[in-house]
Amino acid sequence: MNLFSKFTLAALFIASSLAAAKPNIYILATGGTIAGSGQSELSGDYKSGAKSVDELLAAVPQINDIATIKGEQISNIGSQEMNDEIWLKLANRVSELLTKNDVDGVVIMYGTDTMEETAYFLSLVIKSKKPIVFVGSMRSSTSISADGPLNIYNAVSVAADKNAREKGALVVMNDEIHAAREVTKTNTTNVAAFTSPNSGKIGTVNYGVVNFYMAPLRKHTISSDFNIKDIKALPRVDIIYAHPQDVGDFVETAVQKGAKGIVVAGMGNGNLYPDTEAALAKASEAGVIVVRSSRTGSGSTSVGSEVDDAKLGFLTADNLNPQKARVLLILALSKSSDKAKIKEFFATH
Ligand code: ASP
Repeated sequence: MNLFSKFTLAALFIASSLAAAKPNIYILATGGTIAGSGQSELSGDYKSGAKSVDELLAAVPQINDIATIKGEQISNIGSQEMNDEIWLKLANRVSELLTKNDVDGVVIMYGTDTMEETAYFLSLVIKSKKPIVFVGSMRSSTSISADGPLNIYNAVSVAADKNAREKGALVVMNDEIHAAREVTKTNTTNVAAFTSPNSGKIGTVNYGVVNFYMAPLRKHTISSDFNIKDIKALPRVDIIYAHPQDVGDFVETAVQKGAKGIVVAGMGNGNLYPDTEAALAKASEAGVIVVRSSRTGSGSTSVGSEVDDAKLGFLTADNLNPQKARVLLILALSKSSDKAKIKEFFATH
């Protein structure tokens, strides 16, 4: 063999080992603005979930340099239309994929409206240390300066990064990495819509350069008390939004319609108008689990303070916002109706 052939063989060997070294990342698409399409690139009018996973991935060929990619369509909806059936389908598919030796991580393309709830749900029910990364966009795929392609590139970079392991589900948006329990959408249209008000972001990702600065400590994935394999259906949990001159009617309707739990988005430190407080006390007496949270957007709802939780039978949401408290209460009730046990879930997850 001459020198040239030896060199060519060596180059081929190195190239194939490099290719083999690339992580295998599954991209599951569910819809959202990231898959949205509009009439004009200068208009905010568009339809969520209009483009397929293949079309979205074709717009970011650069991801093939960092990982071996496989795409799969789970649904194609605006995330405001998310329901229990798709939630369970998504969670079961992620669980199934992450048990495979040839899958190193998943990226879930998802609408931004309810991304925080689904990320927290998956973070609590998937038994895997592998990266689970949610990504979306605030501008549709047909908008001028669409943020989707770079967000996807960054999300794949995070999913391919070993440091993303054992951190529960993550949300990658606008160059930031957020932990599922902490992140929330705090703006209707701005590309910097996602923040973690109580703790801050846990990392950054800039054109694929990933840096982590902290890790979530509350129980998630491997250490969580919940497992998607045990869950076949989800109990009804409603959120009721408190305000001055409130009424107890919505609480009564929730109970009549079969809610097993009610999260109340209370005023300030979870405070309630007297009529609503009385209706919630009655619901609690009837066995419905009532969790007080806050409509302020940050901080924890203290036990006691201005509401006599011990007397009224209420639990508090710690520092979870109402929509996150709803996710945890759904899972808690899928496992137990014991109030002391549910209180423990809120103190640890
Ligand atoms: N309504 C859209 C959704 O949540 C918004 C978005 O994706 O940004 O699917």
